[in-house]
Amino acid sequence: MSGQPELVQQGPLGDLWKLGDAACLMPRFNPDWSPMLKSLYQRRLVANFTGRCSCGASVELAAPIAKAHATGHANVLLVHENDCLISDDVFRARIEAES
Ligand SMILES: [Zn+2]
Repeated sequence: MSGQPELVQQGPLGDLWKLGDAACLMPRFNPDWSPMLKSLYQRRLVANFTGRCSCGASVELAAPIAKAHATGHANVLLVHENDCLISDDVFRARIEAES
């Protein structure tokens, strides 16, 4: 990853981050979160843009590659191990616990 992700929009669906040609929608950041959750947010943000996580997560296409060719962009999923602290379910549960 070269450069830093930039927060470009905050909306009802969450925070939209961009780095180069890549975009990523994250949950709305809450400055009142614990340092641990803020750290996990940053870790998930970096993982989303690098496509790598210490759990060994792998990047998978969310739609057939033919659609990517047709639209000029591809949606990818970063699939974490179930017990990863920034997996969808674990991360979401931690946010809900602090909301
Ligand atoms: Zn992970």
